Amino acid sequence: MLTVPLVVISLLLSLLVIALVRTIAIRSANTPVGTSPKAPIPGLPDFDLAAKHLADAVAFPTITHREWKKTDREPFLGLHRYLTETYPLVHTKLEQLDTGALNLVYRWNGSDNSLEPALLLAHQDVVPASDAAQWLYPPFSHQVHDGYVFGRGSFDAKGQMIAIYEALEALLAAGHMPRRTWYIAFGCDEEVRGTEGAAKIARYFGTTGIRFAFVLDEGGVVASGFMPGIDRPIAVVGIAEKGDANIKITCTRDGGHSSTPDNPTALGILGAAIWRIESGKQTARITSVVRVMLHTLGLHAPFPLAFLLLNLWLFKPLVLLLFGANPTMNALVRSTCTVTMAHGSDAPNVVAKQAEAMVNVRLLPEESTDRTYGWIARRIRDKRVTMEVVADAVRSKVSRLDGNSFANVSEAIRTTFPQAIPTPYLMTGGTDALWYEQLSDHVFRFTPANMDTGELKRMHSRDERFSIGNLGKAMEFYMTLITQDSRKV
Ligand SMILES: [Zn+2]
Repeated sequence: MLTVPLVVISLLLSLLVIALVRTIAIRSANTPVGTSPKAPIPGLPDFDLAAKHLADAVAFPTITHREWKKTDREPFLGLHRYLTETYPLVHTKLEQLDTGALNLVYRWNGSDNSLEPALLLAHQDVVPASDAAQWLYPPFSHQVHDGYVFGRGSFDAKGQMIAIYEALEALLAAGHMPRRTWYIAFGCDEEVRGTEGAAKIARYFGTTGIRFAFVLDEGGVVASGFMPGIDRPIAVVGIAEKGDANIKITCTRDGGHSSTPDNPTALGILGAAIWRIESGKQTARITSVVRVMLHTLGLHAPFPLAFLLLNLWLFKPLVLLLFGANPTMNALVRSTCTVTMAHGSDAPNVVAKQAEAMVNVRLLPEESTDRTYGWIARRIRDKRVTMEVVADAVRSKVSRLDGNSFANVSEAIRTTFPQAIPTPYLMTGGTDALWYEQLSDHVFRFTPANMDTGELKRMHSRDERFSIGNLGKAMEFYMTLITQDSRKV
């Protein structure tokens, strides 16, 4: 008779053998798609001239203000004049649509009206550079050094916008005629939630009854070192984004003079609540988006990692544990909460009568808002602290991967970045794309550029830059996407 440990060991061994057989079977049934043959695209624009155009565009300080009325329109109007002069074919051969505010929207008519149009997006506005004096080069000036264009917005997202203009101008100069109609939209206020930009543009399309085969906005990049164990760069294409909500937590107590305190103060009670929120972790789960990402990576990963990723039925707890140890990966499998703003009294010797803090919440798709709000309340576990939802999350849909749309974008990625593995991905941050989800079942978020974490950290931070090589890659990607699509349909 077998002893209990022997039974357990043989059961474990059987499970591992099943996992091994599955891994081999899945990998041999899914031969990774090879690099597509290079599309015969017209000659790429001159990289150095394109870099100068990007540097010129960066020099317009198109900073948006949360109160739209306070936004200075002049830099935007200057940028528009510059773009009109620099890209004459785009501005004479494409139709420009008036969607209000400071948006730039174009239509390039295709030859086949039976095809649904596609929409390319980027945004004109940038975040401020409050620490300008500490930048290597002034953030709003024409700076090209050591193979990079430096300045605020060079990466987010004027690099993408200029790459699209360059690609269009080159295709028009070569006499390219697309089969599908392409729309191109550059919103004016993505950095402050897009209510004047993307919202108005999407409303325009909605009222004219236009639906898109796919929408492509900024988003994931071609990332090196994205996942330990996979050497090849991974092109992460966002197919959904996490919900973004803000909850104010408040504690009200007697104030008074700090020389005769009656502790705990409102601030002290609130601080303890904050600590309890931040020291907890919500339940980790693998959503449909992350499941398809892990499956894709499992097809390309070296064997030990593939063994884990392709057998989540057995290794899910281990994968979740590994993800939990890294903040970037953790955000893919959990709804998260963090405190971003706090206020007590206005003087050092005054005890706050009221203390308040803002909890920024990022919600997984397919997970209810109430679940996270309930979790926060349970972590606070103090009736003296109240909660108020000041900005509820708009929930993102999960884009579909069937049909040709995702395949077409992936093919253009494989052609432009032959080493990269394209994979669906969950965006942890938000973009304009959210506004367009009603107009297409295929809304993708991808920035065609090679980035490592060091480069990404400069975004919204000091010494933002975009390499001329990346500008070239981005131009090639858009030209490939448009010409491949015209050949295929
Ligand atoms: Zn952006």
